[in-house]
Amino acid sequence: MDKINIKKLEVFGNHGVLTEETVLGQKFLVNAVLYTDTRQAGITDDLEQSINYALVCQFITKFMQEHTFKLIEAVAEKLAEAMLCEFNRLESVELEIEKPWAPIRLPLQNVSVQIERSWHKAYIAFGSNMGDKEQYIKQGIEVLKSTRGCEVTKVSDFIHTEPYGGIEQDTFVNGCLELRTLYPPKELLNILNEIEKNAKRERIIHWGPRTLDLDIIFYDHLVLADEELIVPHIDMQNREFVLEPMRQLNPYFRHPVCNLTIEELLNKLKKKK
Ligand code: ATP
Ligand code: CA
Ligand code: CA
Repeated sequence: MDKINIKKLEVFGNHGVLTEETVLGQKFLVNAVLYTDTRQAGITDDLEQSINYALVCQFITKFMQEHTFKLIEAVAEKLAEAMLCEFNRLESVELEIEKPWAPIRLPLQNVSVQIERSWHKAYIAFGSNMGDKEQYIKQGIEVLKSTRGCEVTKVSDFIHTEPYGGIEQDTFVNGCLELRTLYPPKELLNILNEIEKNAKRERIIHWGPRTLDLDIIFYDHLVLADEELIVPHIDMQNREFVLEPMRQLNPYFRHPVCNLTIEELLNKLKKKK
């Protein structure tokens, strides 16, 4: 992706572990790489089509002056999050916070922390088969929408399906949503688990009745598997109630392991039946 580079922006701030640092303050230098598509701005010569780097510099300066953190790790983390939420066209940011005058009583030329943070695209499957099913799902989606660092960009229709996994229970309402998120996969899973808990979900029997179930189906094109989390969801290719809503959201999305699109996975599953 295209980049806009900001180098050595000087900001006077009060970040540090020592009391003297938070009282007296010191100079910090900020380097930022803004990842954004500059093609339209390049063609039209219109600032509205790009990210205004003057505004970004003002934003960084104000943020670093108005907050006080002990660690430059925290300055970088919180500032990256704030920038990604503030500037619409900013897809990803590389941020380096330099602290050249760190008071360590040794002849140090420079010390800095450098991070890269991005928006990610995830697909979440939702399901409910207890109580006011649609209401549990709608409420869950509302909580996601109001979570900072999460934007619900698409929601599929709700579909009514027969229970899966051979346990006698009420029919399900299912669907999928597309999420733009700043959270890494495990943190996203924790957020989803928290929303399930608030919907009074109790894990009693696996595949048993539930007020709200939220599964991560895809996270970008990432492949990940450990005890806590498997992405892409390990059984999604066998579930029409996931593939149908996924087809509504993005039929051409390619499963990174099977190497088939949603459309192809769905056709394959229907043929098996
Ligand atoms: P299934 O995952 O087959 O749909 P389930 O949703 O009923 O079954 P749960 O009881 O909700 O299963 O979840 C069991 C555990 O699965 C969770 O605690 C979580 O750690 C783990 N898990 C692994 N991969 C995922 C994923 N992609 N999305 C959500 N949870 C996952
Ligand atoms: Ca599930
Ligand atoms: Ca689940």
